[in-house]
Amino acid sequence: MKRECPRCKKNNSLGVDHHPKVGHVVRCGHYYRTSDRKWVQRYRCRICRKDFSQATFSPAFRQKKRLLNKPIEQGLISLVSQRQMSRNLRCHRTTVARKLRHLAGLARSNNERRLTQIGQGSIGAVQFDELETFEHTKLKPLSVLAVLDKSQREVLGFTISRIPARGRLAKVSVVKYGPRKDERKVDRNYLFEKIKILISDGAVIESDENPHYPAAVKSSFPSSTHRTYKGRRGYYAGHGELKVGGFDPLFVVNHTFAMFRASVSRLIRKTWCTTKKIEALSDHLQVYIQYHNKVVIQRCRQPCGVVGGTPT
Ligand SMILES: [Zn+2]
Repeated sequence: MKRECPRCKKNNSLGVDHHPKVGHVVRCGHYYRTSDRKWVQRYRCRICRKDFSQATFSPAFRQKKRLLNKPIEQGLISLVSQRQMSRNLRCHRTTVARKLRHLAGLARSNNERRLTQIGQGSIGAVQFDELETFEHTKLKPLSVLAVLDKSQREVLGFTISRIPARGRLAKVSVVKYGPRKDERKVDRNYLFEKIKILISDGAVIESDENPHYPAAVKSSFPSSTHRTYKGRRGYYAGHGELKVGGFDPLFVVNHTFAMFRASVSRLIRKTWCTTKKIEALSDHLQVYIQYHNKVVIQRCRQPCGVVGGTPT
């Protein structure tokens, strides 16, 4: 496959359009990449004399351990902690942390691109809710707000907000870490404004009976119908997200949150494996949501006995 020269493409003054169509990029040797035991084709631009290769255009360009990308991505969506991954794969835990950042960058751009592929005003039913977790200690809780397309079960977006500790931890938290701001309102409005272009006029928006929701929904989705449902006690085997007592009108969002907790190691309840930095939680969720939207919900649409689009 013929490549475009990255330097000429970047430098508009050279005017890549004026290059001769054929022959300005020629093959120029190859090298053996030991990290994944592959021969890589090199190229040379005959206009600017720049050398480059197939690898120049890869998202894993200049990575020394590119073979770890796939197993680490699998671990991140399979409830494996970062330290356990480093032990399994015989690499340093910092390598795993760096790979998480790399994979999250790719997942973030894929998730953003996916939003642009959904037709404007094409979503007629939406559910949203919040999931609670914490950074470092339960004295510093976080709230993850996620919005889902009810019919497709696709996660349209999420935000992570710092919230003050509640109940008997509230006082201890203030003494130890000082007052903690509630960021939920700003983040909620930001997320609603971001996805509002996808929601149709007269859409049905469903949530629990949180008193802050009606005003936020009315301001971002003025022509929609907001339906609220009373919160229910969690079913013990559903990570606290699936509810007891028969039909659950918020099943789509509750079931997705149960899947978050069953797949993302740092979200499982009563665990050693906690979030240390809010950015890393965001990165981890980006990776899981990419997998959820691309693989899990697509698999649910396949008839029984068919996994990942191929008959088993
Ligand atoms: Zn060039």
